[in-house]
Amino acid sequence: MIEPFLSALPVLQKLADSGYEAYFVGGSVRDFLLGKPISDVDIATSATPDEVKKVFSKTVDIGIEHGTILVLYRNSSYEITTFRTESEYQDYRRPKEVSFIRNLKDDLKRRDFTMNAIAMDQSGNLIDPFEGQKAIQEKIIKTVGQAEERFQEDALRMMRAVRFISQLSFSIESQTLLALENLAPLLGKIAVERKRAELEKLLIGPNCKEAINILLNTGLYRYLPGLDNQKEQLKKLFRLNWNSLTKNEMWALVLYCINLKGKEIELFLRNWKLALKDIREIQQVIFFLESRLKKDWEPYDLYLAKRDIIVSVEKLFQVINGTSEARIIDDLVKSYDRLPIKERGDLGVTGNDLLAWFNQEAGPWLKDSLLSIERAIVEGKVLNEKNKIKEWLMECNQK
Ligand code: ATP
Ligand code: MG
Repeated sequence: MIEPFLSALPVLQKLADSGYEAYFVGGSVRDFLLGKPISDVDIATSATPDEVKKVFSKTVDIGIEHGTILVLYRNSSYEITTFRTESEYQDYRRPKEVSFIRNLKDDLKRRDFTMNAIAMDQSGNLIDPFEGQKAIQEKIIKTVGQAEERFQEDALRMMRAVRFISQLSFSIESQTLLALENLAPLLGKIAVERKRAELEKLLIGPNCKEAINILLNTGLYRYLPGLDNQKEQLKKLFRLNWNSLTKNEMWALVLYCINLKGKEIELFLRNWKLALKDIREIQQVIFFLESRLKKDWEPYDLYLAKRDIIVSVEKLFQVINGTSEARIIDDLVKSYDRLPIKERGDLGVTGNDLLAWFNQEAGPWLKDSLLSIERAIVEGKVLNEKNKIKEWLMECNQK
C-alpha cells in the first residue's frame, strides 16, 4: 500500500476496532489502480454518521443527511460516508430518500461508474463486484447497471462521464454513450454549480478536446449555459493545442472561441455562477488578450496587466498562434519585474504635491496629471523622484 492510504489506515483500524466495516472507495482507489497521483482518500463504512462521531473525537458534519462526516485525524481530514442506497429519485437529480445500510456491495452498486465502484480493505484487498478493474485495464467508462436508468436517477452522471473522458483519456462504453445521446436533455435539470464543477475538471483534463467532441456529438452542450448554440465556435478548439492551462485560462480560451464581447462576457460567467474574483480575472485576461492579438506588449500594458495576467495572456496568445516559447514568457515577466513602479501608490509624488506646485484648486486636471506622470515613469521618460517629476511637469507645461 502507498500514501496517502498508509496514513489513513489507522482511521480504518479505529472503525474496525469498534466493530464496523470500513474501506477506501471511489476516486482514490481508481487512481491508485491507474498509477496516477491520488487526491483525497474517501472512506466508506458500515457505521452510521452518529456512530462515526462516537469513534472519533474531532468531526465536522459536512453532509450528515447523505451520511458524510469529516473526520480530523493526525493533521489530516477524511470524508467518511456511511454505506447507503438511494431510492426513488426525484426530478432526475436527487434521491427522495437515502437509507443507510450495513452492506458494502449495495453501497458500491449505487456508485456511478464501474471504475469508481471498487473498494479496498485494510490489507489492500480489492472488492470489485462490478468488474471495475477490468474497465480500468481496458480504459472504459461504463455505468454500474443500466446506463439509461442510472442517468435518469441523476443526470449529473452524464457530465461526470464526459469529465472522466477528459481526465483519464478513457473511452466510453457503447450503451453508456447511447444513453448520453438519448438522455442529454435531462442535463437541463441539473444545478449550474454542479455542472460547473464537472466542466472545470473537464476543461483542465489532458484529453479535453475529445471530451468536448463528445459534448458536441451527444448534444449535451445544448444544456450548458451560454454554450447551447455555440457548436461551430467550440469546434475552433480542435485546431488549437495546449497543455497546462489553468481553469481560468481555459474559460478565457472558450470565451475567445465563442467570441463574446464586453458585458456578454460577464453575463456568461455570471450565468455559470463563477466567483466574482474569477470573473474579474477572466475579463482581464480577455481584455489584454485582445490587445495582444493586435500588437506587442508595451511597458504600460505590462504595468496595467500585472504579472499573473501577463503570463496567462501570453500563454493563450501562444496557443492561438500555435507556438510555444516559455522563454518569451520569462522575458516578459522579467520586463514586468524591472518596471520602475508597480502601482499608483509607488509614485514619488502625491496629489498634494501637485496642488502645492501649481497653486491651483483640485479638479480633473489633477487626475490627468497624475495619470501622465504614472505613464511617463512606467515608460522610462522620467525617474520616479520628486524633483525629477517636478522638472518634467514644468517642461511639459511649457510646451
Ligand atoms: P475525483 O478524483 O475528481 O475526486 P471521484 O471519482 O473521487 O473523482 P467524487 O466526486 O470525489 O469523484 O466522488 C467520490 C465517489 O462517489 C465516486 O468515485 C463515485 O463512486 C461516487 N459518486 C460521486 N458522484 C456520484 C454520482 N453523482 N452518482 C453516483 N456516484 C457518485
Ligand atoms: Mg474524490
